[in-house]
Amino acid sequence: MPDPKQPPHYCQAITRRNEPCKAYATATGFCPLHSEGSNQMHVVGGLCRTKAHMLSTRMDPKLKAIVDLISKSAQEVHEGTITPAQGQSIAALGSSLVRAMDSAEFALKLEQLEKRLTEASRHAV
Ligand SMILES: [Zn+2]
Repeated sequence: MPDPKQPPHYCQAITRRNEPCKAYATATGFCPLHSEGSNQMHVVGGLCRTKAHMLSTRMDPKLKAIVDLISKSAQEVHEGTITPAQGQSIAALGSSLVRAMDSAEFALKLEQLEKRLTEASRHAV
């Protein structure tokens, strides 16, 4: 807890402009942005702006599970944990699942459109 009689301590870091950081220091002697582990915050912040992250957060959870499985399998093939043939099998199964999900989604949308069309034609008469 900071002593109220003591003047506040400033961060010991030097900024990109080669000036001392003007933020108040925490117990570490650095401000939160210059403290150890702050790089991880920046990395996470940067990741949130990548197209891959944005797509993964908007993706259907079922589809994301398949994408994650295929990504994990690719990594395992690279590491030699599973054979390339096993990786290809997983990718083929994942691809089939995605096609089946697409087909079901398409059928559902078609059914909804047909229903709307039928209702619209009833009101038109
Ligand atoms: Zn600082």
